[in-house]
Amino acid sequence: MDAIKKMWEKLGAKGKGAAVVVLALVMLAAGYAAGGAKLPQLEQQLAGALEEVQAAQTGLQEANRAAAETRAQVQAAEDALADTQAGLEALQVKFDALELENKTLAEALRTATDQLAEATVRAATAGGGSTAGGAAATSTGGSTVQAAPSTTAAGQVWIPQSGKKYHSNANCSGMNNPTQVTVEQAVAAGYEPCKRCY
Ligand SMILES: [Zn+2]
Repeated sequence: MDAIKKMWEKLGAKGKGAAVVVLALVMLAAGYAAGGAKLPQLEQQLAGALEEVQAAQTGLQEANRAAAETRAQVQAAEDALADTQAGLEALQVKFDALELENKTLAEALRTATDQLAEATVRAATAGGGSTAGGAAATSTGGSTVQAAPSTTAAGQVWIPQSGKKYHSNANCSGMNNPTQVTVEQAVAAGYEPCKRCY
């Protein structure tokens, strides 16, 4: 400061005035420099803001791309679902067709079974009728010779629920709920006489 004071004292009035002008110019320049120094800062801030805007735009683009991808995935999933539903409907149609076929087959089987049962009854009746003469003679002979008290009626025998023999004794071989038929009927139905009681 002393050096400046001495310089200031050496200056004349004219010199002092010039110094003030110089000082003012220096201050102005400094002010300009200060203002100018703020400019790059502003530029930096602007550049930063621009970068942020750019980053936001990039982010938005990425989000749009992701959204498009998601839409594509959703579309694919919807397509797959539609395919699955179509497949399910096709399966349902097949199932219905099979169910109907099964029902038809079951009915055919029932009809066939009924016809078989009818045919069996007819065959048994016809067989009984055709052998009636011979069988009657046999039973007549049997009743005169044996006169078995366990036989319920002449020419009647017992056939079991399961088994291939016909019996004169309803309690033979532990039969459970046997059926009484004529000998002719039993023979016609393929039964053979029991060796124990007949
Ligand atoms: Zn028997």
